[in-house]
Amino acid sequence: MDQRTPNELARETVRQLTTRKLPPTPDNYQRIWHEIAGTRPSRPFPTEQMSSLAQALPTTTPAQRRVQMQVEKAVSQCNWSGVEKALVDYASVPQPLAQPGGTVTRPYAAPAGGVVSEGAGLPPDMLEQIARLVDNTLPALGRDDQRINELADKLIQYLRQPECDPAVLKPMLGNFSYRLSFSAEEQGAIRNTLPGLLNLVFENIAELSLDDRWLHGQVEALKGATQPPLVLKRLEDVQSRLRDVIHKQAEVKAQTLAAQRDMKDMLAAFIERLARMTEHSSGFTDKLDRCAKQLESAGSLSDIAPVLQEAIAATRSMATDAQRASDELRELRSKAEQAESEVMRLQQQLEHASTQMRHDPLTGALNRKGLDEDLKRELARARRLETPMCVALLDIDDFKKINDAHGHDTGDAALVHLAHVARQVLRPQDTVARYGGEEFVIVMPDTALDQGVEAMTRLQRELTKRFFLEGNERLLITFSAGVAQMAPDEQGAEAIKRADQGMYLAKRSGKNRVVAV
Ligand code: GH3
Ligand code: MG
Ligand code: MG
Repeated sequence: MDQRTPNELARETVRQLTTRKLPPTPDNYQRIWHEIAGTRPSRPFPTEQMSSLAQALPTTTPAQRRVQMQVEKAVSQCNWSGVEKALVDYASVPQPLAQPGGTVTRPYAAPAGGVVSEGAGLPPDMLEQIARLVDNTLPALGRDDQRINELADKLIQYLRQPECDPAVLKPMLGNFSYRLSFSAEEQGAIRNTLPGLLNLVFENIAELSLDDRWLHGQVEALKGATQPPLVLKRLEDVQSRLRDVIHKQAEVKAQTLAAQRDMKDMLAAFIERLARMTEHSSGFTDKLDRCAKQLESAGSLSDIAPVLQEAIAATRSMATDAQRASDELRELRSKAEQAESEVMRLQQQLEHASTQMRHDPLTGALNRKGLDEDLKRELARARRLETPMCVALLDIDDFKKINDAHGHDTGDAALVHLAHVARQVLRPQDTVARYGGEEFVIVMPDTALDQGVEAMTRLQRELTKRFFLEGNERLLITFSAGVAQMAPDEQGAEAIKRADQGMYLAKRSGKNRVVAV
C-alpha cells in the first residue's frame, strides 16, 4: 500500500486525471485514487442490479425456483458470499428438458440484459400461476398477519387484471415476498415451539392424576407422538389420544365425586343415629335413677308395683330403640357395601371402556377400533388423491417359544419392542396397529405394493440390528408378513384378509419372510 498522506494522494490523483486526459467524474477520481493508493474501492452492494439479475434467472423447474429464491434472499441481505454460493448452486441444477426443435420450456423469458422493461408482456397463464401460488401460501400463514393478507389480495387482484405491467408487478411481488419471509419465519418458529408446549401440557396432566396407570401410559404415548417431525397423521393420532384421555378423566372424576357424595351421606346418617341413641340412653338412665329413688322411699308393695311397671316399660322401650338402631345401622352398612361394590363395578367398566378406546395399553399401537377408524380415513384420502395404499399383516414367529422360555412378561416386553421399532423404522404417516395377540397390521398410505414389501423387509432387517434384550441375553424377534395393495372398491377388512393369506403363505414357506398378495 502507498504510504503517502491523503492530501498527497489527492494531489497525485488530480495530476493523473489531467495527464491521462480523463474527465474529472467521481468514478474516475475514485478509480485513480485507489490505483495510486494500492487499495480496493469499497463499493455499495448493487442491490437493484443484483435483484434484477436474480429475477431474470429462469425458474422453469421447482429446483431452479428454489435456488433462485436463495439468490434473491442473499441479495436482500446484501450477502456476497451467499449470492456466490446460490449462483454456483443454480449452475448445478439440472436444466429442464428441451422441447422438440431444440427450444427449452420457459414460461417467461426476460429481455436481453436480464432487466424487465416496462411494457414487456407476461404470459397470462403464468400470471394466473403466480396468483394461485400467492393464494396457496395464505392458509399456511393464518389470518393473523393482516398486512400480508392485504398485500396478497391486492397482488392477486392485479395479477388477474386483463393488463399487467411488469414494472408495477415487480415492486408488488417484492413487497409481498419481503413480508412473506417474516411471516413464514414466524410460522416456522410457532411450529417448532408447539411440540414443547404440548409436552408440557401432557406432563401436567400426568401429574394431576397420580394413581392411574392407564392414563400415565397414554400420556407417555402422547409425549412420544409429539416428537418432531410433526406430520398431520401424527397430529391426528395425538388428537384422538387426547380425546380418549379427556374422556377417561371425565369418567374418573364423575365416579370419584359420586363415591364421595355417597360416603358423606352415610357418615351424616350415622352421626345423626349415634346422637339419637345417646339421647335415648341418657333418658333411660335418668328414668332408672328416678325409679331407684322411688323404690328406696317406697313403704309398701303397692308403692313398688307402679315403679316396677315404669322401669319395665322404660327398659322395653330402650330395647326396641336399640333394636331399631341396630337395624338402621345394619341397613347403613349394607348401603356402604353396595356403594363399594358400585365403585368396583364402575372401575371394571372403566377398564373395559379403556380397551374400547383406540389404543392398545400395552404397546401404545392402535387397537382394532382405532385401526378401523384409521383405515377408513386413509382409504378415503387415498381414493380422493388417487394414490396407492398398502396394508400389511405381520405375525411374530414362534412367539409361544419366547413366552415358554422366558415368561409372559418378557413376551409382553417383546411386543412393546416390536411396536417401538416399527414406529421408528416406518414413516410417520404409516400406522402400526395391534391386530391380535402377536399380530400387527401396518397401514401404509401413498405406497405401492413393491414399496410396501420393501418397508416390511426393512423392518425385518432393523429387528436383526436392534436386539431385544432380556437381561443380558439378546433375543432375535422375527416375523412373517403378508402385504396387500388396496384394490379399487376394496374394503379395509378385505385387504387385511388378503394380507393374512400372504402371512400364512410366508409361515408355510419357512417363516421370517414377506409375501406380496
Ligand atoms: P407361529 O410362528 O406359527 O406364529 O408360532 P407362534 O408360537 O407365534 O404362534 P401361536 O399362535 O402358536 O402362539 C401365539 C402365542 O402368543 C400364544 C399366546 O400365548 C401368545 N400371546 C398372545 N397374546 C399375548 C400377549 O399379549 N402377551 C404375551 N406375552 N403372549 C401373548
Ligand atoms: Mg398368531
Ligand atoms: Mg406367531
